Amino acid sequence: MISPELLEILRCPMNPSRVRLREEGGRLVCERCALRFPIKDGFPVLVVEEAELPPGCESLADLPCQREGHEQGSGVKDQAPDRKP
Ligand SMILES: [Zn+2]
Repeated sequence: MISPELLEILRCPMNPSRVRLREEGGRLVCERCALRFPIKDGFPVLVVEEAELPPGCESLADLPCQREGHEQGSGVKDQAPDRKP
């Protein structure tokens, strides 16, 4: 069993900003992308590579949770360089 206090702070590693996990059938399931993380010896293994993909999902790239949101303005290219007439 995972303690409620621990569950409270656990997040899906694919999208750690806000997605929570719930315990289900001895595993932790992401409430958003439904990745299933194993629990070994009472400790959740929040490793994407060890997680089980939800049915119908073939690749991590198809999940609603994605690793992003940490863009820090590197190489912004939406502004054309100044052109002098
Ligand atoms: Zn997720």
